[in-house]
Amino acid sequence: MSKDFKRYLITAALPYANGPKHIGHLAGAYIPSDVYVRYLRSLDKDVVFVCGSDEHGTAIPNQALKENTTSQAIIDKYDAQIRDCFKKLGMSFDIYHRTSEQIHHETSQEIFLNLYNKGLLTEEVSEQYFDDKANVFLADRYIVGTCPKCANPNAYGDQCERCGSTLSPRELINPRSTLTGNSPVLKETKHWYLPLQNYEGWLSDWILKSHKDDWKVNVYGQCKSWIDAGLQPRAMTRDLDWGIKVPLPNAEGKVLYVWFDAPIGYISATRALFKEMAEGKQKFSTPQREFKNITAADWKPYWQDKETKLIHFVGKDNIVFHCIIFPIILHAAGDYILPDNVPANEFMNLEGDKMSTSRGWSIEMHEYLEDFPGKPDVLRYALLTNLPETKDSEFTWRDFQSKNNNELVAIFGNFMNRALVLTQKYFENKVPNRGILHQVDNDLVNQLGETQAFLGMALDGYRFREATAHMMQIARLGNKYLAETEPWKLAKTDMERVGTILNLSLQIIARLSVIVEPFLPFTAQKLRKQINIDSLSWSSADSVNLLRPNHLLSEPSLLFEKIEDDVINAQIKKLTDSKKEMELANQPVIPAKAEISFDDFSKMDIRVGTILSAERVEKSKKLLKLNVDTGIDHRTVMSGIAEHFSPEQIIGKQVSILINLAPRKIMGVESQGMILMAEDKDGTLRLLQPNEIVSAGSTVS
Ligand SMILES: [Zn+2]
Repeated sequence: MSKDFKRYLITAALPYANGPKHIGHLAGAYIPSDVYVRYLRSLDKDVVFVCGSDEHGTAIPNQALKENTTSQAIIDKYDAQIRDCFKKLGMSFDIYHRTSEQIHHETSQEIFLNLYNKGLLTEEVSEQYFDDKANVFLADRYIVGTCPKCANPNAYGDQCERCGSTLSPRELINPRSTLTGNSPVLKETKHWYLPLQNYEGWLSDWILKSHKDDWKVNVYGQCKSWIDAGLQPRAMTRDLDWGIKVPLPNAEGKVLYVWFDAPIGYISATRALFKEMAEGKQKFSTPQREFKNITAADWKPYWQDKETKLIHFVGKDNIVFHCIIFPIILHAAGDYILPDNVPANEFMNLEGDKMSTSRGWSIEMHEYLEDFPGKPDVLRYALLTNLPETKDSEFTWRDFQSKNNNELVAIFGNFMNRALVLTQKYFENKVPNRGILHQVDNDLVNQLGETQAFLGMALDGYRFREATAHMMQIARLGNKYLAETEPWKLAKTDMERVGTILNLSLQIIARLSVIVEPFLPFTAQKLRKQINIDSLSWSSADSVNLLRPNHLLSEPSLLFEKIEDDVINAQIKKLTDSKKEMELANQPVIPAKAEISFDDFSKMDIRVGTILSAERVEKSKKLLKLNVDTGIDHRTVMSGIAEHFSPEQIIGKQVSILINLAPRKIMGVESQGMILMAEDKDGTLRLLQPNEIVSAGSTVS
């Protein structure tokens, strides 16, 4: 590691508990942070890893409205779902907290009051959008409109999810209320602002001067462009009845801005962790570490001691909050350390399009876990090899299949299995003795050491994609070694040499059981079981003497299994189906027509008739010529339904028919009425039929 810190505090972006989270979120912040933390733990570092559900902000009550339930029910539902998925995917948080917890409300209010009492917040009355019909101010996500930067017609009042710009509601073109669809009006309201512009000089020194070389180019670039563009005061409160109450008199109906309280969630999670440990309710997940006499105040050095390295793992849409706004809050509050790095990732796209839950174009964590039980590591691997570290990347199901079949099964799994099965076959499942090393053996040992060193350097530099490639390279070296030395052939002539080859191969497996742990924790566990060892530390993993001769191994079993084409095809179909479904659901219903009188309605003579015959009309794609028994007469109706029904499908069917519509000529034929149809959002037509057969000529009213 470049500089050794006394302790490490790692945060992963708080997932927003307004809905399921998809694999793009995993690739953005979660898998990389977990790899990094597991790596630090394997180096015996003092590390605390915190995360939790972000449960405030306008999108929560908005979602409650959609699901016809309460905000509390929404956060309970999605917090439980996200928590469960993270556990199954091996996310090794020391604590997964919730911002709805009391300790978080208290911590956020303390920090708000700290700034307020120092006179660092400005109180301003301003005009804000108000929905007359719903009688509420429209904060952030209650308001949508066209993004002034990229013309996305559905940008939110605080952010455009397409281009990642942070916005204020007044910047939106054609704003509308998400509650009623109304155009909102401007109305006066009082709020407390953080004057970000006062910190420009300080930010410039901290980011632009001090972190020019160690922050990622995409992160540094975003920060620089914000600072260069000039910062604006930002309201830290909202008019809303869901969230953390503003702890001031005369602040009725006002809550803290969700981006004020959410990052403070990292602090309250750390506080909660140490409180729980002090009460003996929880232990560190780091097995090597033993904390004695922990008090609830022991969270403090993690946030306040300069010897702590603080790293925020986030996606690119969160950079501004973690590099500009939250650091300003911490700096203004005083006594807090700042992040040493914010290694934010770009976005991961899916099969050629942006990933989006609301558009049905995503792979939700819980769906993956349901469809691929017992395969969390396959997803971790497929994401790690494809992380959007420097630019947007793309997940495809074919690539997922290929990473599994061609790398995890064919290289990694194949190497382990060969070495273990051969040991079982020739040496009664015991580690054989190692004799004199040949050139090929020494080459292997050297290459292993080199690859492992590169791997460590990549992890130190937050280059997880590269680190993953080095990890697989170690398995590849082992696989190549067995293919070249062919111990199964030597078994006829030179069993001592076979022993040496398998001994070295088993040492690689022992080494891999440590090295793969950050990347593929479930596989590492299986490996340790197969070679019958508890745990090894990273520093011991560069040795080739991890397993002693005669050490008894367990029965070999397969680590990975092939994923067949039909499984992948089903996933691709599921994806396109769900996109279609969401497109339909998201299309607006045609607005109501102007009011009519009862007399207007009763002028229409609608009957149930039976279609006696139907035929296509020459030179027309759309028309069918129908003969309909109306109960009064048999008449000809020209109907534009040929693209939806074949003649055979509708002959004999009962339909609703408007019989007193003035006749008119269509394609030279007089049409004497109109068949009534239900037209779905996608334009599909359906006949309007009585739910049971009635006599022809029955009236419809
Ligand atoms: Zn935009």
